[in-house]
Amino acid sequence: MEKTYIMLKPDAMKRGLVGEIISRIEKKGYTISRIETKVLTAEVLKEHYAHIADRPFFPDLVNYMTSGPVVAMIVEGPDVILGMRILMGATKFEEATPGTIRGDYAYCTTENLIHGSDSAETAAAEIKRFFGC
Ligand code: UDP
Ligand code: MG
Repeated sequence: MEKTYIMLKPDAMKRGLVGEIISRIEKKGYTISRIETKVLTAEVLKEHYAHIADRPFFPDLVNYMTSGPVVAMIVEGPDVILGMRILMGATKFEEATPGTIRGDYAYCTTENLIHGSDSAETAAAEIKRFFGC
């Protein structure tokens, strides 16, 4: 069974959307095999977001991602890496279609509620980074 790393970002906690988002993941048929709240550091975010660390929005992203706890999860299911990316919706809020988590609830691109691994390689690295397994 495939595994992916999912993280509900601080705005999901602040807006009371954790239950709603977890419910969508469960209703899709995926299994949440690990779940934990965490407070992230700038150091781990530099590693996690290394692909965008030189972008002008990066300092705002770090401030946002350290503004409160996140909910870290390992989610399992057939083709779950791609399936979760579809359930999440596009990165840019204006491209995220209604019916997706971001399309229904995100009104800007930085604070877009949820992270999901984008490939088998990043899923393995992110699960190791946040759960050490
Ligand atoms: N992000 C942003 N502005 C952008 C692109 C990305 O603030 O123009 C933030 C946003 O929170 C996004 C995260 O950086 O979720 C990681 O970007 P990535 O391109 O990996 O998007 P994702 O995989 O989260 O859809
Ligand atoms: Mg990404």
